[in-house]
Amino acid sequence: MSAGLLLVLSGPSGVGKGTICRRLIERDPTLYLSISMTTRPPRIGEKEGKDYFFVSEERFLQLIAQDELLEWARVYSYYYGTPLGPVVEARTAGRDVVLEIDVQGGFKVREKVPDSILIFILPPSLEELRARLTQRGTESGAAVEERLRWAQKELSFYRNYDYAIVNERVEDVVGKINAIRTAEKCRPRYLNLDFA
Ligand code: 5GP
Repeated sequence: MSAGLLLVLSGPSGVGKGTICRRLIERDPTLYLSISMTTRPPRIGEKEGKDYFFVSEERFLQLIAQDELLEWARVYSYYYGTPLGPVVEARTAGRDVVLEIDVQGGFKVREKVPDSILIFILPPSLEELRARLTQRGTESGAAVEERLRWAQKELSFYRNYDYAIVNERVEDVVGKINAIRTAEKCRPRYLNLDFA
């Protein structure tokens, strides 16, 4: 059995990554969505172990020291990281894995796992992104501005990803990601069949 694909989804805050991930899992429950560790405090409605594992900075630094994170990054003023164990376990069991992480994290994953697939989700425009962030209402005005500044920086890296998809309609994005999965599984290195 081939190991599952490692898919990295990145894109600016407010671009709709969360919704896209939820739809992906609804369509294919075999997909494993990694749950990150963060030092950010939970937002209203967020659940421990479902949205994130919320940990102290001390615990986070300990996880780094013990090499228990596949990657980690500081985003805004908080640490975020991907627990390594569950990702390895799911891939070994043949499940495709999705990481919803920032661009710094994406590049670290590519270094460690060269056959990972980096997919960038783009907003139709910056104005649209501002509107989505404001409508979401999870951040204060100042935090929205900070996220928009960060978004512009992140967007400048999209050409370094393997794929880029503009999020006009969630269903279309999900369809395209599944098309990428199908195509990637037709690569000789993935099939790795021995006809000798
Ligand atoms: P939020 O605070 O809005 O949930 O996430 C902020 C940013 O951190 C998003 O761009 C999200 O993709 C990113 N992020 C979430 N988890 C991780 C992670 O484990 N590693 C990295 N590098 N970024 C993450």
